[in-house]
Amino acid sequence: MSELFNVRDKSIVITGGGGVLCSAMAKALAKAGARIAVLDLDEVAAAQVADGIKSSGGLAIAVKCDVLDKESLESAKEEVNSVYGRTDVLINGAGGNKKEATTSPDMAFFDLPKEAVRFVFDLNFLGTLLPSQVFGKEMAEAGAGIILNVSSMCAFAPLTKVAAYSAAKAAVSNFTQWLAVHICQNYSKDVRVNAIAPGFFLTEQNRFLLTDEKTGELTDRGRTIIDHTPMGRFGQAEELIGTVMWLLSDAAKFVTGIVVPIDGGFSAFSGV
Ligand code: NAD
Repeated sequence: MSELFNVRDKSIVITGGGGVLCSAMAKALAKAGARIAVLDLDEVAAAQVADGIKSSGGLAIAVKCDVLDKESLESAKEEVNSVYGRTDVLINGAGGNKKEATTSPDMAFFDLPKEAVRFVFDLNFLGTLLPSQVFGKEMAEAGAGIILNVSSMCAFAPLTKVAAYSAAKAAVSNFTQWLAVHICQNYSKDVRVNAIAPGFFLTEQNRFLLTDEKTGELTDRGRTIIDHTPMGRFGQAEELIGTVMWLLSDAAKFVTGIVVPIDGGFSAFSGV
């Protein structure tokens, strides 16, 4: 079984690797023997994650990178290749929502600023597509590789308040299927593209929506989420690891073009 789920020596690029969910993936994959490149716009966060991995005996490098800038991605790829020689896996983790693109009593849908909507849509959708072009090209040419995208519950059914984020993650799920088929049909049957769809994990991008800034108590929205999660709680970042290990290893050798919910049952529950 350990051979089946092996990720040892794989060179794994993780965008948004300085963030809450992706740093947990980076640490776990490094522990399993993978060589990690932590790509993030926030170079301090990326360095902290890479340093943490190295001080626990793992292999990691931190690379400052903007997933919305192709030149920045190309130079990140060169940096990764100069250390690891190639990229076996790309995890497209950079993404998130923004307060300004979220409806609220102070922000009607009709007034949502175009710039904020575009920012969120671009970060999640283009921020997945552009790294897939840069690192995916190398995989297509090599005839081997794995891309793992990060979608969301709001891709299955939109969440209230977050119109741009919901649309963007729906696009990420759709693109996951599209690219899986496109690469198989045109380049290689051995490049797989899948996505995970995490349920609700309390992180910086959603803390303002799920908990009260002053008291830390659940907001009405936070309570509604818990009430609609059959397991009755938010997820822990570490609970993504098992599914990620499966999708990045030979255990999922015949799996491409799927989106796996990791959500404590949220997507299965109609609310009644
Ligand atoms: P996070 O904010 O902790 O991490 C996101 C990271 O992306 C940050 O380190 C940030 O610096 C980086 N980033 C932002 N813009 C970037 C850019 N242009 N280029 C490179 N890096 C950039 O968020 P998180 O909650 O850990 O989310 C990680 C992923 O999981 C996101 O795609 C998010 O949409 C998705 N997700 C989160 C949840 C949740 O409940 N937290 C649920 C479903 C999906």
